[in-house]
Amino acid sequence: MPSDPSEPSPSCPDTTFATQGLSTKSVHAGERRQKSEGAIATPIFTASTFTFDSTDSLLRFVDGHEEREEYGRYGTPNERSVEAKLAALEGYEEAIVYSSGMAAMVGVLMSRLNAGDEIVFFDQCYHRSREFCAKHLARFGVVTRQVPTGDFEAMEAAITPKTKMLVSESPTNPHLSVIDLEKFVAIGKACEVETLIDATLATPLNLRPIEYGVDLVLHSATKYLGGHNDLLAGVICGSREALEPIRALRGILGSINSSHNMYLLERGLKTFELRMQRHNENGMRIAEFLEAHPRVERVYYPGLPSHPTHEIARTQMNGYGGLITFTIKGADWKETSQVVDAAKIFRIAPSLGGVESLIEQPLVMSYYHCTPQEREQFGIGDNMIRMSCGIENSDDLIADLAQALEA
Ligand SMILES: *Cc1c(COP(=O)(O)O)cnc(C)c1O
Repeated sequence: MPSDPSEPSPSCPDTTFATQGLSTKSVHAGERRQKSEGAIATPIFTASTFTFDSTDSLLRFVDGHEEREEYGRYGTPNERSVEAKLAALEGYEEAIVYSSGMAAMVGVLMSRLNAGDEIVFFDQCYHRSREFCAKHLARFGVVTRQVPTGDFEAMEAAITPKTKMLVSESPTNPHLSVIDLEKFVAIGKACEVETLIDATLATPLNLRPIEYGVDLVLHSATKYLGGHNDLLAGVICGSREALEPIRALRGILGSINSSHNMYLLERGLKTFELRMQRHNENGMRIAEFLEAHPRVERVYYPGLPSHPTHEIARTQMNGYGGLITFTIKGADWKETSQVVDAAKIFRIAPSLGGVESLIEQPLVMSYYHCTPQEREQFGIGDNMIRMSCGIENSDDLIADLAQALEA
């Protein structure tokens, strides 16, 4: 890092791009205009610690007169530039990156909740988020109340004076239910409870939670934000004030990123809008193809008028993404797995949001160790397939699914 004091410090990123379009922000926001040695790409800073010229310089820092790096667990230049880019994309004052989406979820909940506090969340959600709440927050005396997704009366009824947070995904994983953010935020405001949306499946292109007044937005950046199935990361966006204690706890939890990882995320973000446009197009075309296919029983895709939350999706979303869940007519788990196995371009793997198309049977992939009762409760059928449409040619993807469904 050059010591020229005329250079903005790494924690004071360029904010010129605040009012510009998403792609301009994803290419330029958060980065210094003139970087070390004139490099156009952000250099990878591999330092675990950062030196002070003198005790005077250290005193300037500890007295709060200078913003700069200190020790890697509290932040690095590569994390700061990605954080500023993500904050600009999401429209919030600040962002904090984590080593994974789950680390972000754990980081924010651990920072906010005390023994005796309660949270209310919609029941359709990423299974590890549910597990963390039900199994682990419970160990610290935090009460978590699950209510049926989209049932705002049940949500309101579950709120008590001890409720500290309302949590939901939108769209939800894997049923792709879209939450009415206007209602969600109205309840939060009326009851003075903080609102948190996991918008991983939506991305900042397809959903703008800030426009509805959501307090905190979380993403697994492993998915569309990174976009290349080659990194894990998470992010939480919010106001500077809301994030301050969360950042302080991250410095203790140590759920931080290597600079190499942050460079990959920054590079992936450069093409964010382009990739998302293709995910949206492929998702819509493939969902329509599946819905018209005689072997398909039901398609869960918020862009289809048949989806129960399509009307909210249509008014709140700018696109519907690449994730599609569907069921095969009259198929048992074995026949369903034969469809998965017959796909050639789609690869069998968990995760979503990358350039490569992926396919999986939730029963086997993520819910294998659940009891049949739990699977029924979570809405995971034996004949269910979840697909993440990548950015390949959509004719090729459709041809692949057509042959897999006939096999
Ligand atoms: C994947 C995912 C997570 C967890 O993110 P990781 O980066 O895998 O830890 C959380 N929420 C949703 C909606 C996800 O899809």
